Amino acid sequence: MAFIAHGLPYTRVAGPVRSGAATTTTRGPRRNAAKPFSGLRPMVDAPLRAAGCAGAWTMTAAPAPTAAAGVAPRLSDPASMLAGIKTFIFDCDGVVWRGDSLIDGVKETLDYLRKDLGKRVFFVTNNSTKSREQYLGKFTKLGLDVEAEEIFSSSFAAAAYLEQTQFAKTGKKVYIIGEQGIEEELALIGVPYIGGPSDKAKVADMSPGSAMPHDADVGAVVVGFDRHVNYYKMQYAQLCINENPGCLFIATNLDAVTHLTDAQEWAGNGAMVGAIRGCTGKEPIVVGKPSSLMIDYIVEKYGMAPSEICMVGDRMDTDIMFGKNNGLQTMLVLSGVTTEEKLLAADASSQPDCYADSMANFMA
Ligand SMILES: [Mg+2]
Repeated sequence: MAFIAHGLPYTRVAGPVRSGAATTTTRGPRRNAAKPFSGLRPMVDAPLRAAGCAGAWTMTAAPAPTAAAGVAPRLSDPASMLAGIKTFIFDCDGVVWRGDSLIDGVKETLDYLRKDLGKRVFFVTNNSTKSREQYLGKFTKLGLDVEAEEIFSSSFAAAAYLEQTQFAKTGKKVYIIGEQGIEEELALIGVPYIGGPSDKAKVADMSPGSAMPHDADVGAVVVGFDRHVNYYKMQYAQLCINENPGCLFIATNLDAVTHLTDAQEWAGNGAMVGAIRGCTGKEPIVVGKPSSLMIDYIVEKYGMAPSEICMVGDRMDTDIMFGKNNGLQTMLVLSGVTTEEKLLAADASSQPDCYADSMANFMA
């Protein structure tokens, strides 16, 4: 049953995440049970496309001496690659921008793909701290001409999941561990929320005999990246999930680390989710990459064959996994967190179909 989420129809629910290290069993409806997609696309992990690419794409073997059998080839003939792909899904950080800086050649490449070649492009990010509206502002500020409906943030995915499952009809509210992006997206669908930035400075009373009160009307806890996560928020979430019957535990993503600055890696939302998992014993419903919710929406809305979609990302554990789990072509770019050494040392099952220095190589 289709319905409208922020003006965008959603007809699918999040399925189980089928990643390796980040494997998570969802409590939501199983993807295969909700609606058959088997006629539309393969439901198995996509095999390496190096051989398939050889027909449509022309690759050369990675030159590094450490390259082992089964590693991804480096992109060498972008024209052949582009001919076989109608839609690109780009991760943002490390692919389009690094922090607040646009990566060289991105604007020209996006213009080329869209205007010269007529490709459709989408942007998918696991960063839940911003709403789609805030992301639109960031794209515009960086000089990129992007439509709101081309942006899929995990904050939006969390709201879309709640809308899809008709959460608003329960009359319940959401407790947020996370930032403004989640608040804005929930406000857009009319779901009341508490927590988030408002609980930034709260400290629970732990004097003898005290108990922390919590709202029995919280029907879902959404956990996203939160620069001000604290014990109060963890205890509040724990009480809601453990004591409110049927309370959902939703994670925007499970990223182990994130890049708050260019100088080092910082603990990602996997830390916040892990804390709540640890004190509840429950597994979250994951709505961001590598969960299938966002790709299901794109595939269904635009009637695309997954094999004609290429996921371009800089992380193997989310971007490439997301693409492979959903039957997409996959390309790793070295403009973000993954070095060539890391890529070539990874096992065959986590390799992308091919890799390039950055998306600027698409125009070479
Ligand atoms: Mg990235």
